[in-house]
Amino acid sequence: MNLLDSILSVNRSFVHPGAFPPLPKNPKKQFAIFTCMDTRLVDFLEPAMGIKRGDAKVIKNAGNILIDPFHGGVIRSLVAAIFMLGVEEIFVIGHEDCGMSEVKPEKLKADMIARGIAPEVIESLVPDLAQWLGAFSCPADNVNEVTAKIRNNPLIPADVPVHGLIFCPNDGSLEVVVNGYHAENYSGAARKSEIFCYR
Ligand SMILES: [Zn+2]
Repeated sequence: MNLLDSILSVNRSFVHPGAFPPLPKNPKKQFAIFTCMDTRLVDFLEPAMGIKRGDAKVIKNAGNILIDPFHGGVIRSLVAAIFMLGVEEIFVIGHEDCGMSEVKPEKLKADMIARGIAPEVIESLVPDLAQWLGAFSCPADNVNEVTAKIRNNPLIPADVPVHGLIFCPNDGSLEVVVNGYHAENYSGAARKSEIFCYR
């Protein structure tokens, strides 16, 4: 049985009409996560954050990188999440031992050519493979940078806190790299402290 058939077979026994209550599109916990596609995070980061189906928007790519802040898919997804789906906070979550911190461009190029990608195509479209992929040496530095890029993006409202965290894919712990409530240009902080003062 090929992979597609085996997945369809599992799916036929998974579906039970009425077993899953319908959920609204808007996230119950009103936040979005931007994280890495690493397989160790699947069904691990969510329980580690106390979130379940229906709770949060989750955006993923290789290394939670943000290359093109105006034309790439990440900012588009965040804009849709904020303005159409009720998201009020953003969590950028990198992780230890990320594959994107171990990119070897020469080997990658050789592997691509070995799989039939034309060398001239690589040269003309992606001459600097590491830069094109958004490879980084330190996951926490990347989280810091991506958090700042989102925070300073003119399409993201200043009252949306943007947090940056690092996740351990082995023990499930989270560490704060950037506390979005304390960011210099987060406009929600003043409003929150006003509310606090009046209580
Ligand atoms: Zn990763």
